[in-house]
Amino acid sequence: MLRSHTCGELRAEHVGDETTIIGWINAIRDHGGLRFVDLRDRYGCIQVTVSPDSLAGQSLDSLRSEQVLQVKGKVEARPDGMKNPRLDTGDVEVVAITATIIGDCPPLPFDPSGGDQVNEELRFQYRFIDMRRDEVRQRFQLRSDLQHAIRCHLHKQDFIDLETPILTKSTPEGARDFLVPSRLNPGEFYALPQSPQIFKQIFMVAGFDRYMQVVRCFRDEDLRADRQPEFTQLDIEMACVEESDVIALIEGLVVDVIRTVTGKEVATPFPSFSYADAMQRYGTDSPDLRSDLELVDVSDLVSQLGFKVFSSAIEEGGSVRAIRVPGGGAWSRKQIESLEDVVKNQGAGGLAWFKRTEDGTAGSISRFLQGEASSQLLDRVCMEVGDLCCLVADRSNKVVNGSLSFLRKELAIRLEQIEPGALEFCWVKEFPLFVEDEASGRPTPCHHPFTAPHPDDLERLEDEPLTVRALAYDLVLNGFEVAGGSIRIHQRELQERVFEAIGLNQEEAQEKFSFLLDALRYGAPPHGGIALGLDRLAMVLAGVDSIREMIAFPKTQRGTCLLTGAPGQVSGEQLSEVGLQLEESEPDESS
Ligand code: ASP
Repeated sequence: MLRSHTCGELRAEHVGDETTIIGWINAIRDHGGLRFVDLRDRYGCIQVTVSPDSLAGQSLDSLRSEQVLQVKGKVEARPDGMKNPRLDTGDVEVVAITATIIGDCPPLPFDPSGGDQVNEELRFQYRFIDMRRDEVRQRFQLRSDLQHAIRCHLHKQDFIDLETPILTKSTPEGARDFLVPSRLNPGEFYALPQSPQIFKQIFMVAGFDRYMQVVRCFRDEDLRADRQPEFTQLDIEMACVEESDVIALIEGLVVDVIRTVTGKEVATPFPSFSYADAMQRYGTDSPDLRSDLELVDVSDLVSQLGFKVFSSAIEEGGSVRAIRVPGGGAWSRKQIESLEDVVKNQGAGGLAWFKRTEDGTAGSISRFLQGEASSQLLDRVCMEVGDLCCLVADRSNKVVNGSLSFLRKELAIRLEQIEPGALEFCWVKEFPLFVEDEASGRPTPCHHPFTAPHPDDLERLEDEPLTVRALAYDLVLNGFEVAGGSIRIHQRELQERVFEAIGLNQEEAQEKFSFLLDALRYGAPPHGGIALGLDRLAMVLAGVDSIREMIAFPKTQRGTCLLTGAPGQVSGEQLSEVGLQLEESEPDESS
């Protein structure tokens, strides 16, 4: 037996027992001819007294941080005054009879006690050391508990856990595919799944009316802090359901797993907005409801103020929107002007602002604030004395919304509206079915092409496709989209109309999706589903800022793995086995 106890389990009741423990050396304290060693494993930490005799010929100085030490010894009570109430094992210590270094360790590349402040590249290169830290271990425990709770909840509700292929055909979620060459079929490629979308719909046709899978998905996109090229989602599909059924299931699931994993209570039903409403009130389709700040459209009023920046933005088809900042009137000019960078970074030309004072208004645009339009503006924005109003004008509504939604986030922080640990969910529904592809001007699916059009808008599918709403819904948590799904098209004819609308003719549709189109002919029930980003949900629950913290071996912004060095080159032999030849690469001018 290599160990009889873990480092976290010994208590006063074990005093007098013999024990064998194994752990990493957390800290060493010199105690005049003895060493006090804190030995740590996943379960806790315990103090061990090591004497020169117990080390079998090795000197006490050979002990170093992060070596793996096996200790056979006796559990003894710590004398009064020497107990450590901060440790679960703090009433006792192990007095070593033999202590053996069974895993040596050279000087460390970084000091693990430096926490998350240590250079991220070093942490991920030596992730095995990083993961020994308490807070990192707890994040992965939370992630594991979350998955366990999800499976338990769904299992009780008759969901069946089914797997889908990783080597497959392109699955359209709007990203680029990762391709894998096929050795047995030279010149042909598998695509890694962007999601199991089509397979889960086929499960519905097959009669597995409640499917779930915790599944890895792959999307070759440019990376941001909350994106990774491979990520895990909880994938769900249900037959014979409407939107409200999927929503009720997810609310029940989320409330239950959050209670199990964090002990927090979340109230249902979650607030819900149409996409149009969310854009109008928050400037984004993933509003952070921890803040109650809202955007107000004031285009019609400010066009009469005689301020050129405003009137020309409106004339060119854009808008002017405002955010009221309660109490912001007390902020200095410098503090207010520092907000301008936030909107400029999102493409806005600048920030206009004014304060409401006892005797009128003050600030960058106050000289334009006169007359009836001005008092209507104060009313519409609900300005009280002592408030600040920030406005953005642009001929692109996308820029106005985008910059004000970022400004809203920044204001929420400055106003200290973001309560630590708060969890604010909401649903956003009635997304457009299509968006206009900037390059081609064609409609492209806003979600994916299997999403059902809103029945009230069906007749506009051919003539005004961009006005058609979808039976699609996103779940948003603290401003992050944590889940997205839809009711699907289950009639082949309608599926073909949607393919047409995005420019896929029958032949192309058949070539790409024959297996789905065929399945839809053979008895397809109505169905819908959703996918929940597990890394992202775990990130918010763990209170960290990046999903890299929730992924054991994450990729960098450049898609590389710092631990393994992937991606890497392969031999000429491997390439020729799969029928590939590399082009001579151009010399890199930047190097
Ligand atoms: N397949 C979708 C996605 O991965 C989710 C869904 O529609 O269920 O985003």
